[in-house]
Amino acid sequence: MSGTEPRPVALVSGGSRGIGRAVVARLAADGYDIAFCYHSRPDAAESCVEQAEAAGAVAVGTRVDVSEADAVHAWVDATERQLGPISTLVTSAGIVRDSPMLRMAEKDWRTVIDTNLTGTFTVCRAALFPMLKRRSGSIINISSISGIHGNVGQSNYSAAKAGIIGMTKALAKEVGRFGVRANVVAPGFIETDMTAALDAELRGAALARIPLGRWGTADEVADLVSFLASPRSAYVTAGVFQIDGGMSL
Ligand code: NAP
Repeated sequence: MSGTEPRPVALVSGGSRGIGRAVVARLAADGYDIAFCYHSRPDAAESCVEQAEAAGAVAVGTRVDVSEADAVHAWVDATERQLGPISTLVTSAGIVRDSPMLRMAEKDWRTVIDTNLTGTFTVCRAALFPMLKRRSGSIINISSISGIHGNVGQSNYSAAKAGIIGMTKALAKEVGRFGVRANVVAPGFIETDMTAALDAELRGAALARIPLGRWGTADEVADLVSFLASPRSAYVTAGVFQIDGGMSL
């Protein structure tokens, strides 16, 4: 990007930790100004802002529960007023509440669907208008290989992540003619706080199934997101990109 052009604006849900945080850092380094949201950890959000500012970006972190549509709309409106029209959206906000289906509490089903699936819908819908108005934009929704293959103990999470894939394909068909692209990134096992909570046995079993013999890093996912955000992927839409060290074979 040349120094005279206004910096493009990226919106990142769940940008304070893990994959979303790596995306914020990467897009800041790519030349974007960034608005991201978080849910419960202002300390992480503050250090994320500092990291993005050190890379030369204007960065704003806001506490928004992505499952609350009105709050999401207010966040998107405020971002446009403050930073300008949003050209890239990355939805990374997500949670797990694992248990076998027989023992799964309805609350855990609903919370995971509300945050992961409805939360992706609310942010996509709110950010679409400025993109359609400008006839350009790139949406990257973070799903999971659990949404492709299913995962034991994760019927709620797998359903939400599969829903994100179907929703993104439908969206790509709706908005392609208006110059807006929508793609899915489906990570395998990535080292973040979310996976740090897994027990040693499960971690070992997962590792044994990965041909590359290691877990992925959030920075590696951010590299793929950076490509999908940029004009280098101008002819790529409705794709589902697995980044899992070959685990899905
Ligand atoms: P993480 O380290 O736990 O970070 C989750 C982020 O989402 C945090 O910034 C958190 O903010 C935010 N968040 C959670 N609930 C929210 C809500 N209701 N509203 C707004 N923000 C919310 O998770 P991660 O491992 O980076 O995962 C990021 C995404 O990648 C998720 O969608 C996850 O399902 C997906 N994924 C991860 C892996 C993996 O191996 N790590 C694999 C496949 C897919 P607070 O900290 O403030 O709560």
